[in-house]
Amino acid sequence: MEDFIKKTRNGVEYYTIPLFNNGKVKTAFTTRHGGVSEGHLATMNMSYTRGDAGENVYENYMRLAGVLEANPEKFAFSYQIHEDNVHIVDENNFGIGYGVIPDLVKADALITNQKGVTLVKHSADCAIVYFYDPKNNAIGLAHSGWRSTVMNIAAKTAKKMSEVYGTKPEDLLCAVSPTIMECCFEVGSEVSEKFEEVFAKEDSTVSYSYEKPHVNLVNALKTQLMKAGVKEENIAFANLCSCCNSEEFFSHRKTGGRCGLSVGVISLAD
Ligand SMILES: [Zn+2]
Repeated sequence: MEDFIKKTRNGVEYYTIPLFNNGKVKTAFTTRHGGVSEGHLATMNMSYTRGDAGENVYENYMRLAGVLEANPEKFAFSYQIHEDNVHIVDENNFGIGYGVIPDLVKADALITNQKGVTLVKHSADCAIVYFYDPKNNAIGLAHSGWRSTVMNIAAKTAKKMSEVYGTKPEDLLCAVSPTIMECCFEVGSEVSEKFEEVFAKEDSTVSYSYEKPHVNLVNALKTQLMKAGVKEENIAFANLCSCCNSEEFFSHRKTGGRCGLSVGVISLAD
């Protein structure tokens, strides 16, 4: 079975993670299809900051909430600043239909054990990492672009869940969303050198089989999660390149930044 399975519900096309599906947790990674946004934001843009009409984004969130059977007022957001802060969700994170939420906390990862709360992280090429602790009923979601990956946000999210919820890494189920993959992630030497510093050669996070260095975020995240104590068989990988599949996913790289954003979401069922 594939690690991520594509579903269509009420016209909304999204991926879900069978490894997590025990009836107590819901997961999705949205595609470009099933929303009302137009042009380069067509159709399922989930961001209020990419020039879209607010009512379009709002409608897209309402459609996603419908698909998940989730309370749209309990969608939890934070500003993504490509760093490594992990934030425990509180009521100040909630908001939908507000456009840009003032004073929203800056954090690339969110964790919670509150039922009915949907964690939301945005992506256009960046990896979204999902965390689920079925023993303690706690979840986490991390936005891991190359900067946050170098800062090891995945392991820091697992560690914070251990501190706050008593999560044992060997119980954690994890998943890595569609993301820009090695085929398309050409980088400058300032980026490849950072990966060389942080990772061992055998982690295969930088490939020199192309004209310029290419970074492999999936290998980097797998290495970090396993070093944090997560079992290999408990990590699901979409293995879908957002840049190669830019008809299906928003891709910053493919469009030179002229695109909408998808979201990864996870929630504990009520
Ligand atoms: Zn690719």
